[in-house]
Amino acid sequence: MPNNNISLKDGSHIAIVGGGPSGCFFANFALRQARLRGIKVNVTIFEGRDFTRADHQACNMSVGVLAERLMEKLDWQGITIPQRCIQAEIQGYQFFTQDDYMTLEHPVPGHRPRIVSVFRGGGPVHSHMKEDVSFDHFLLRFVEGQGAQVIKGGVKDIVLPGHPEGKVTLIFGKGEELEADLVVGAFGANTPTGDIFTKMNFGYVPPKTLKTCIVDARLGRDFIKEHYRDNIYVFAFGTDEVEFASFTPKGDYLTIGLVGKRNISTPELRGFLNHPVVKKALPQGTEVLKDCCVCFPRIPVGPAHQPYWDRLVVVGDAGISRSYKNGIESAFMTAYLATNTVFERGLSREALKGGYYQPAIKLIARDNFYGRLVFKAFSLIASQRQILSERLYYAYAHREKWIADRLNAALWNLVTGDAAYKEVFKELFHPRLQFALLPVTLEGLVRQILGIRKKRNL
Ligand SMILES: Cc1cc2nc3c(=O)[nH]c(=O)nc-3n(C[C@H](O)[C@H](O)[C@H](O)COP(=O)(O)OP(=O)(O)OC[C@H]3O[C@@H](n4cnc5c(N)ncnc54)[C@H](O)[C@@H]3O)c2cc1C
Repeated sequence: MPNNNISLKDGSHIAIVGGGPSGCFFANFALRQARLRGIKVNVTIFEGRDFTRADHQACNMSVGVLAERLMEKLDWQGITIPQRCIQAEIQGYQFFTQDDYMTLEHPVPGHRPRIVSVFRGGGPVHSHMKEDVSFDHFLLRFVEGQGAQVIKGGVKDIVLPGHPEGKVTLIFGKGEELEADLVVGAFGANTPTGDIFTKMNFGYVPPKTLKTCIVDARLGRDFIKEHYRDNIYVFAFGTDEVEFASFTPKGDYLTIGLVGKRNISTPELRGFLNHPVVKKALPQGTEVLKDCCVCFPRIPVGPAHQPYWDRLVVVGDAGISRSYKNGIESAFMTAYLATNTVFERGLSREALKGGYYQPAIKLIARDNFYGRLVFKAFSLIASQRQILSERLYYAYAHREKWIADRLNAALWNLVTGDAAYKEVFKELFHPRLQFALLPVTLEGLVRQILGIRKKRNL
């Protein structure tokens, strides 16, 4: 039975551990909900990073693409990203396999999607930005403006109360303490804070993670504009080392992102940069590594176990997040579900299970199952180069409208994250599409067996 005695009241205190996107979104929703209900809640965000600095410690390392669905959600919340934080307005996507490339278009003809790229910290290492470019710093200042209090510095320990009516104690700074009615874990996947939550013994286990790689290479604004024309390049080679890679223009910088089936480290990065297709798209090759900002952040590849308890909820990357895509949108969605739950149902573990955990698992984690299927199948097909080539050529070069449109929509939705993985799965494995592609699949198989290679640009 839900414990109705534990709920937010006038004067309640919410402590948020982490001032990245999920922490800021939670603060924003909570302050709005409180205003709507005519009560005052105190919201304190603890954040260990100074996002204005240009170094790794100041950055929530990510490629920094804000997709259209997220931009719409930010609009809805009245969160307008200042122009100084926007590094590029993305025009479209180029999709590269080992043998072909194609331009992906928005499935709705004529629609120009609003997709932007941002820096999460104060810019790449050694950059000297004239303005405060950090997206995360902007979000933190935004919620401060809404009434949240920000405490600089890390939370060191958390003590649960002996009974559900008691408060949670957070220990920070030089042993200072804060008592909270609700603690929100928004600490991401790249700090050891998960251990603090695990040590509390309520059952929390952080999500499994994989090491990825991000390189910010300073190639100069003119070079980037001329070569990439504000397009994101996506590489899907179907190799064991790199599942997907991307080039994202960001002002003077090109951000190279790599996600693998296993942890990525320097040899995989070098191998990717030396691939002939990549060398064509980035003539500097491994030279870009000479004077660049490189990091190997972790990405969650599954949900956390038990990300809730009485007076405690874990959101964003540390809780439940979409695999490989739209992490910031997941941060938004989990923060939204969790805030609605604590205001509408209360702070008990039963309320958080029914109102937050179960819907978030249904919305995000179950869909990740289809994501894994899509990536596995794509990887398998992409590794059979002739088969993939024949299929793409048939669909695009012959401009068989229904097939080309379907394939374009599926790939667009896959690279932008505009649709659920389940939808992408249904689009890619539509029986009519697969049936139409059967003859060319067989032709590709024969070519592959005979070692006959055809190369075409689509
Ligand atoms: C290679 C790569 C590329 C990505 N590209 C994209 C992309 O293009 N678009 C996209 O939407 N998402 C992308 N993501 C995912 C995205 O970065 C995350 O999903 C998102 O940042 C999660 O937000 P969060 O607030 O949950 O966690 P984080 O952004 O990690 O924020 C957690 C915050 O908590 C703070 N913190 C941790 N412990 C403590 C403590 N004890 N006390 C105080 N503060 C603490 C940290 O300093 C940090 O600021 C990418 C991720 C990777 C790895």
